[in-house]
Amino acid sequence: MPETFTHEVVIIGAGPAGMCAAMYAGRSMLDAVVLERGFPGGELLNTEMVEDYPGFEHILGAELAQKFQSHAEKFGAKIRTGVTVTAVRKRPDGSFETISDNGDVYLSPTVIITAGGTPVKLGVPGELEYAGKGVSYCAICDGAFFKQQEIAVVGGGDAAVEEADFLTRYASKVYLIHRREELRASKILQKRLFANPKIEPIWNTAVEKVEADAAGLVNNLRLRDVNTGAQRDLAVTGMFVFIGFRPNSGIVDGHVKHDDMGYLITDANMQTSIPGLFAAGDLRAQLTRQVTTAVGDATTAAIAVEKFLKSIREGGDGAIIGTGGYTS
Ligand code: NAP
Repeated sequence: MPETFTHEVVIIGAGPAGMCAAMYAGRSMLDAVVLERGFPGGELLNTEMVEDYPGFEHILGAELAQKFQSHAEKFGAKIRTGVTVTAVRKRPDGSFETISDNGDVYLSPTVIITAGGTPVKLGVPGELEYAGKGVSYCAICDGAFFKQQEIAVVGGGDAAVEEADFLTRYASKVYLIHRREELRASKILQKRLFANPKIEPIWNTAVEKVEADAAGLVNNLRLRDVNTGAQRDLAVTGMFVFIGFRPNSGIVDGHVKHDDMGYLITDANMQTSIPGLFAAGDLRAQLTRQVTTAVGDATTAAIAVEKFLKSIREGGDGAIIGTGGYTS
């Protein structure tokens, strides 16, 4: 039987942004709930080692996720897992209803959407068919299945380069297949990649097709040189795809300002074009997407929510003022 819950703020997604927003909401004594379809951690759970979060020279992604969760819960955060949000809708009275896949409805005057993104697919034959049978989007989840095997990573950004390096712990060889001959990844990650003798870049190349053996397990990639059109086969047992993320912004029902990739556009207080709807983390339009930027966004969003609610309570229009005066 679907239920209806009422909170001051509903936070959608329990990645770094969601858990940080919950921590700040808890410190402000707001009645907040975090709705998470899987486990708390978000992209941290797809990251082996984090080495660019200040204060931790290196820490396992899963360990940092656990620390975020327990820190948020220490300040009273309620994190509900296994709840997939299907829509967030503005009601005529200005409040929101957040609908979950089991029909439960969460009513709140404010929402912070921190739902991150979903890995982009290559869209080639065999990719989805052999997902979980050699095709993967998560090195930490699946890397250990490829011990002493030759595998491929597709992409040229931070994620592809970092995960290719990580996968050499297991694989005997990792081919990095990139459609250009220049990587987008940060220089420090590139330096590490080029110093790793188990990695062989394959430049200017696209994957045309993923093929499998009689048991349905990946055994070949059909490649195409994007300059010459020449095709060739690459015998590998795995293909890890890291070609970016699509923001999970589609759950917002009604028009909300976004860029041409679907990332939500906010003001400096993380408020979207819909008053009372805030966005933080990977689904927000911004220069880069890091754990540090996610928690920065979330801090601002949670404090802005507190000020928005104060204004509404006092009969105002939700104006967020006095943002400079907050001290921890
Ligand atoms: P990204 O930076 O957008 O890179 C995507 C890569 O995939 C690009 O090299 C792109 O090629 C390639 N690509 C895109 N579509 C493709 C297609 N259809 N076929 C083949 N190749 C395709 O994405 P990301 O690496 O997932 O990173 C996302 C964000 O997370 C970035 O802001 C990144 O800095 C951040 N991140 C940071 C770290 C870290 O700092 N340790 C780790 C992971 C992610 P082109 O270069 O030719 O466009």
